[in-house]
Amino acid sequence: LPFCKQLPKVELHAHLNGSIRDATIRELADKRGPKGLLAEDAHTLTSKGDRSLADCFKLFDVIHQLTTEHDTITRITREVVADFAADSVVYLELRTTPKHRPEVGMTKQSYVEAVLAGLMDAKIATNDDPPQPPSSQKAEMLEDTREATSRSNGAKAATFDERRTGIIVGLILSIDRRESGEAALETVQLAHSLRHRGVVGIDLSGNPTVGSWATFLPALQWARAYGLPLTLHCGEVPNAEEVRAMLAFRPERVGHVCCLAEPEWQQLLDAKIPVEACLTSNIKTESISSFAAHHFALLYKDDHPVAICTDDSGVFSTSLSQEYAIVAASFGLTADHVFSVARHSVEYIFASESVKQKLRRTFVRGQTHKQ
Ligand code: 5GP
Repeated sequence: LPFCKQLPKVELHAHLNGSIRDATIRELADKRGPKGLLAEDAHTLTSKGDRSLADCFKLFDVIHQLTTEHDTITRITREVVADFAADSVVYLELRTTPKHRPEVGMTKQSYVEAVLAGLMDAKIATNDDPPQPPSSQKAEMLEDTREATSRSNGAKAATFDERRTGIIVGLILSIDRRESGEAALETVQLAHSLRHRGVVGIDLSGNPTVGSWATFLPALQWARAYGLPLTLHCGEVPNAEEVRAMLAFRPERVGHVCCLAEPEWQQLLDAKIPVEACLTSNIKTESISSFAAHHFALLYKDDHPVAICTDDSGVFSTSLSQEYAIVAASFGLTADHVFSVARHSVEYIFASESVKQKLRRTFVRGQTHKQ
């Protein structure tokens, strides 16, 4: 674990409301008072054992009851970024579903503004990529200094390379499968209008047993037409028809791909679509029976593009270092193999080529330092 902790890492699949600190959840629940949440819900929030995928979505509904305010959204964003930075994550693509909550005066736009304020709050300054017009492929990225983050955490940052100073953050806006096609399009258009402020792509997530692919296709096609990269939660439950349609659409990345039958698995390998692998999440939601049985091994053996990710570090009590350590232990990967997995993840990010170049340099320097 110490090696994995110090290793510079790239996190490509992290849901904001699934990555909240336990202490913050408890504080928010306490503020609601004894009647603010059902006792049963409070219990669900604090027990971290295995739960089915369906139970997880119930849990997200409970978490969402605690994070209704703009200020809270700003706070949790700031904390989540700080936590990833303290775990030596050098590049984070944080994803969240813009929420429309008229009862608290929240629109999708104001929700995303609150997230962006959280990124700024964490002393995030623009990096050397100049702001681009909204139609540009290039997104302005947001960067924090690791020093500032480690100070605010009161902890010494674990640096793999002393010269590395920052975490770069890109924001992905998620479409929830419960949403209508119109609501999905609103999210995509919002993402497009905020590319110059660090929005880098679109995700399709939410309960995989709800909604159908056809509902979201027009919004996803719109995103593609405007050059927004796409990542889709794919194959979390068996649904061959949907998986085939998703893979044929050729998103830039897919998440999970747990329940693919042989023809769809072959389709994935042939298409070489990078996979966001979330091991602890897949085990805890009982999508996969054990770490040893996880399909990461097949992807890795096949030299298929794959990035190790946390999914919901708060809900599943994990960290990216821990996920790397699990992969290393489960599949007998050496330090060099683990380093190579981290380094290759840079190639699958949604940010501009200049950000990629910068990250590639981090890994070259890191390697020198390691030897
Ligand atoms: P948020 O978008 O509210 O910041 O993060 C929580 C949301 O992310 C959940 O309500 C759900 O829509 C999505 N999410 C988090 N984890 C998972 C997962 O493992 N699978 C799927 N399909 N969606 C998830």
